[in-house]
Parts: sequence; structure tokens; C-alpha cells
Amino acid sequence: MKCTVCGKPAIVKFPAHNSAFCEEHLDAFFLRQVSKTIEKYKMLPPKGRVVVAISGGKDSLVTAYVLKRLGYEVLGFFVDLGITQNDFSPRSREVVENFCKEHDIPLEIVDLKERYGKDIPEVAKRQDRICAICGVTKRHLMNEYALSVNADALATGHTLDDMAKLLLANLMRWDLHHLAKGVPTLPAEPGFAKKIKPLAFQSEDEIIAFAKLHNIKPVEAKCPYGREAKYNRYQEALDMLEEKSPGIKRSFYKNYTKYAYLFEGTQARPPKVNCEVCGFPSVSPVCTFCRTWVVDNEKKK
Ligand code: SF4
Ligand code: ZN
Ligand code: ZN
Repeated sequence: MKCTVCGKPAIVKFPAHNSAFCEEHLDAFFLRQVSKTIEKYKMLPPKGRVVVAISGGKDSLVTAYVLKRLGYEVLGFFVDLGITQNDFSPRSREVVENFCKEHDIPLEIVDLKERYGKDIPEVAKRQDRICAICGVTKRHLMNEYALSVNADALATGHTLDDMAKLLLANLMRWDLHHLAKGVPTLPAEPGFAKKIKPLAFQSEDEIIAFAKLHNIKPVEAKCPYGREAKYNRYQEALDMLEEKSPGIKRSFYKNYTKYAYLFEGTQARPPKVNCEVCGFPSVSPVCTFCRTWVVDNEKKK
């Protein structure tokens, strides 16, 4: 197997691109691909300031690393969920701290226990849908931080595999609201930072190869609450199709982004009220975040 660019021995092959690359050209390929995504979907101005939500998983570490390499001002953001089972939060925190130190990325950490006096395991005792609460918590905190530092955008590590499986799941249900929001860039709105997904066109195998090339080591510990596996079957279906027709995942998602405008206006109406506690837009007088972390605490006092 030879590098498609220089003819030297290749270390990796990407059937979806009908290409193979040596180390040097894998690096160049990956950076060029992400850079094109950023430009095409108007994610960031040159040298723009971007907050990256870093969990310690490979996707968010690679997102932060690539944005830094491309010359953006990267600010890392991590939420310590206080999950000690499997050593999950302590190990994740250590990985993120070391990574940011090594790559000279300032890191903001919100420790739930320190700030709100309780953590995810404590909330999980009274909540069945802890992943939903955990997601709301992380989204609220990273949005708040991105706005507070005047970031041009808030980046997450969603990959092509994530975007394609969500698209398939939303299409299966004709969930118009989410079909309108599956694009790689969501513009800023009052109370919400602009949201971007720079790896929206990079597949799992490309990210793994790139992380390995740069010795980016993600946290190995798994969250004991486990991610809700409801989208796994869509991932399996897409993997099967990809094996038979390399590149189909990419064209499935890419063509959607061309027609996503058709779903605009189908979104649920923007929230009308501002949360009485935090002031952010909300669908109820007190938002889920504040009901979970702030109001309960005040009742206890
Ligand atoms: Fe949070 Fe659920 Fe992910 Fe664990 S698996 S980090 S609880 S969203
Ligand atoms: Zn080469
Ligand atoms: Zn609130």
C-alpha cells in the first residue's frame, strides 16, 4: 500500500476517499479536510476565539488539537461531573488537564460538587434519566462559559458517524425539529453562543488514525451510567452500508446539509421566557438546569 500523494509506504487507507497516506500526508489531509469544513460552513473567522468542550474522549481532544494547529485561539472547557465509579471523572480530568498543559491550551474547569454542593451520582439517586440531565448540565455550562469569554463559537467533537446516525434516526421519525438542527454550524441566538462541529465530515477511522499519529491518548475509563444506546442500531445499519459502498455515510450527510434549509421554520418556536434564576432562555419559568442544581439547594437551606 502506497501513499496516494508521494508514493512512500502508507500507514493508513481510507476507502471512502479512495486514498492511502503516509504520516506526513495523513496529517496534511486531515488538517485540510477540517479547514475546508470550517470555511464552507462559516464556522470561525481567521484566528477566531473558540471554546472547545473537552471531555477526555478522542473526538473532543482531536477537535481541540486541530483547531489549535489551524491557528485559532482555543479555550478548553471541562465539567467535573464527580463520577468516581470506574474512576471516570478523576481520570477524565487528569487526561484533559495534561493534554491542555502539553498543548498550551488554557483550561476552565467547572467542578459540580464545588460549585453546587452536589454531583451527578447524587442527582442520579433521584433521577432515572441521568444522561439527559447530564447533557442539559454540560450544554448549559459550556454555553454560559462561551458567552462569558466572548468566543466566536463553541465547538464540540461530533463526528461524521455521530451526525449521520442522528440524521438517520431523525429521518426515520421525520422529526422535523431535529432535522432542522443537524447542520454543522448553528448560528448564535439571543442567549446562545454559535455552535460548531469541525469534525462533522471526519469519520471514526480517520480520527483514530490522526489521534494515533499525534499520540493523543483519550481516557479509557467508561462512565458507569453508560450512554443511552438508542442510536446504536442506526450506527450498525450505516456501518453495514459503508462497508458495501465506501463513502455513502459522507454523501448521506453532506447532501442533507445542502437541503437542510428545507426544514427551516419547522423548529419548535424559540423559548419565550427567561429563566427566573439564571436569566437564560427557557421553556418554563425555571429552567431544567436551575431546577436540578440551584433551586433544590436553596430549598435545603
Ligand atoms: Fe453523562 Fe450519561 Fe455521558 Fe455518563 S454516559 S457522562 S452520565 S451523558
Ligand atoms: Zn505521502
Ligand atoms: Zn436557569
